[in-house]
Amino acid sequence: MLTPGNHKLGGRLIWGFGLPSGTPDTCPGLSSACQPHCYAVAVERYRPAAAARYRANLIRSRRRDFARRIRAHLIAHGVRVVRVHTGGDFYSVRYARKWLAIMLHSPRVRFYFYTRSWRVPAIKTVIDRMAALPNCRAWYSADVDTGAPTSVPPQVRVAWLMTESTDVPPQGTDLVFRVRRLRRPEPAPGPCVCPAEDGVPRAPRVTCERCGLCWRSTPAARVSLPVIEPGS
Ligand code: SF4
Repeated sequence: MLTPGNHKLGGRLIWGFGLPSGTPDTCPGLSSACQPHCYAVAVERYRPAAAARYRANLIRSRRRDFARRIRAHLIAHGVRVVRVHTGGDFYSVRYARKWLAIMLHSPRVRFYFYTRSWRVPAIKTVIDRMAALPNCRAWYSADVDTGAPTSVPPQVRVAWLMTESTDVPPQGTDLVFRVRRLRRPEPAPGPCVCPAEDGVPRAPRVTCERCGLCWRSTPAARVSLPVIEPGS
């Protein structure tokens, strides 16, 4: 169901929950800019075991007892941090409400996610309720096709997927992700670039567990982003 760590997340602190990706069925807010660069779709392609787990999770997510089972899993494994959707997204209002219930009943667990489902007004309403919880860190994902979201609650931050070198993140962007071919160590005016994707070699390697920007910090940290020096 949930699994601890991975190459990007780090060791065993952050547990991920994933669904199949890359179609409107499970990513209703997907865009033509994000689709060809989807990391989760690539994982499903070269890791059949992960793809099978995501499919099983989708079936579980439709069950009435999904929230109860997730909470039991969190307790049984002593999970402290959850990255919701290492693949997939909030695909319906009903499904999003299940995660809202999980978060409400797991106040000691930190949840965080990036989502393009803010593009679906009915799902956005539920996402914004999650974002208001003290144990949740919510990110709207955006790109050149979605454009900048126009209604961003104060607890929500915006992550911009940069797909071209000419693609300038708009005002209001808090964090920039770069597609693989743009991950070069060159000065980038504007918002912070994810240190795992800025092309700067570092040892030890940057992981979300070590960095913490997306899940530890709050929107108040918009102007005090962590600086990770090369070689640190
Ligand atoms: S900014 Fe930090 S926490 Fe966020 S995705 Fe990049 S490495 Fe992970």
